[in-house]
Amino acid sequence: MSQTIPTQRNFIGGEWVAPSTGNHAPNRSPANIDDVVGHYPVSGAKDAQDAVAAAKAAFPAWSSMPGPARGRILWKAVDILKSRVEELATMLCREEGKTLAESRGEVNKGINLFEFYAGEGFRTHGKTLPSEMKQTLTFTLRQPLGVVALITPWNFPFAIPAWKSAPALITGNTVVMKPASNTPGTATLLAKALEDAGLPKGVFNLVTGPGGAVGNTLVDHPSVVAVSFTGSNGIGLALNERCAKRGIRVTAEMGGKNPVVVLDDADLDLAASGIVGGAFGSTGQRCTATSRVVVQKGVAPQLLERVVAAAKKLKVGNGLEAGIDMGPAVDESQLKTDLEYIDIAKSEGAQLLCGGKRLTDGALAKGYFVEPTIFGKVKPGSRLHQEEVFGPVVAVVEVGDFEEALAVANGVEFGLSASIYTRDANTAMKFVERSEVGMVHVNNPTVGGEAQLPFGGWKSTGVGEREMAEEGAEFFTQLKTVFFDYTGAARTSKIY
Ligand code: NAP
Repeated sequence: MSQTIPTQRNFIGGEWVAPSTGNHAPNRSPANIDDVVGHYPVSGAKDAQDAVAAAKAAFPAWSSMPGPARGRILWKAVDILKSRVEELATMLCREEGKTLAESRGEVNKGINLFEFYAGEGFRTHGKTLPSEMKQTLTFTLRQPLGVVALITPWNFPFAIPAWKSAPALITGNTVVMKPASNTPGTATLLAKALEDAGLPKGVFNLVTGPGGAVGNTLVDHPSVVAVSFTGSNGIGLALNERCAKRGIRVTAEMGGKNPVVVLDDADLDLAASGIVGGAFGSTGQRCTATSRVVVQKGVAPQLLERVVAAAKKLKVGNGLEAGIDMGPAVDESQLKTDLEYIDIAKSEGAQLLCGGKRLTDGALAKGYFVEPTIFGKVKPGSRLHQEEVFGPVVAVVEVGDFEEALAVANGVEFGLSASIYTRDANTAMKFVERSEVGMVHVNNPTVGGEAQLPFGGWKSTGVGEREMAEEGAEFFTQLKTVFFDYTGAARTSKIY
């Protein structure tokens, strides 16, 4: 049985190479720890250094290739990825735990990102602006940065590597990616697709291994000129500081504590289905997951009746099986965090409305399963309301009116996403205007993102540029302003 479990390698300079450490770690399914997806390199500093050297060597040729030609290689990758959706989704489901349907959705989202950025190869543009001087053409160029490091989390192991690597590559940068240690499999399949698409050697490199040895080496490497990170606030802020010391560009997309506001005039069936999908989809392990419900007292009982009934119906189990609605926590540590916050909420006097326990019946004992959990009567100042759990645990706060709802919704350190359910367009627009988040939804769950729309958060959630869309590509370019004097003669006077 163990003979069929593959031992994987890093992808450096266009070759699949064993880690210099000689070490590998088993990549186990969080739904069934006996299911070993593969053995992945536990790389060290030398592997990261080799990958940076390969990316540096590949930069001159890749950055001088015309954008449309780079785009055609990404289009080839799109075709290959489309033909491998089932393989990618199965890997994603096995190593991260989200259901197969959710995994297919994520893979298709990642492919959309490659489609969008392949087209950007034709469109990366500067501006032409008038000059103060006669017969002088002034314009800007967008040029690539160099070697960029992409450090990604486990919760979207395909979409996030896609939304970072596609804009970095299309704009002419070369890449070293370090995926989360929990989910190296999907990123390895992405590297294989890029290789098969004909990406020149060294343009995209993948090194799996711990944040400490591999991540720190990349962040501190003098040849790495930008870092794009998604993950927790603790790691992201420390990384931001290190990049600041070297004066290099960084974007860090971090935690969320996303509210759904439900007002008296809302369509309660619509709101309930948005809350349940947003809170328990992907086991609540989305940065945009709904983790707070802020409801007007007048409709709280009716809304909660609907939400609790729907949550209780969710079938929890191994996402590879048909009929499963919610998978496991990603690992033992996240399971522990979920259960700890359930205890914290109880000790803070919140009212447990449903769930609250680990599930261990039968085959579930082999995985890290928690019940979909909802707490009512949560105080806005409590830890459950303020801190990111990153699991299927929802806090419900009851409020008197719109102003109080807005204050509670805004009253946390994070600012990623927020949603309001109301039939009143004026109130909805006031919420859009005053919500302290990077993404607002009206009569729609807190989750989601589209390739062409900027993605990211305000306040403690985000440092640096938005991701996805045109803005996501701008992060990977630097501007050059050009003054082109075509008088052909010496100027008699110059303004500056
Ligand atoms: P994490 O623990 O911060 O890890 C993120 C990545 O950083 C992993 O690849 C990790 O490697 C690496 N890393 C760890 N220490 C490092 C170091 N010293 N230097 C460089 N890299 C290092 O986050 P996570 O648990 O994977 O992801 C969950 C978090 O991501 C949540 O807070 C969630 O809200 C956030 N998230 C935010 C967004 C957004 O767009 N705002 C999207 C998705 C997720 P190892 O795996 O080897 O430790």
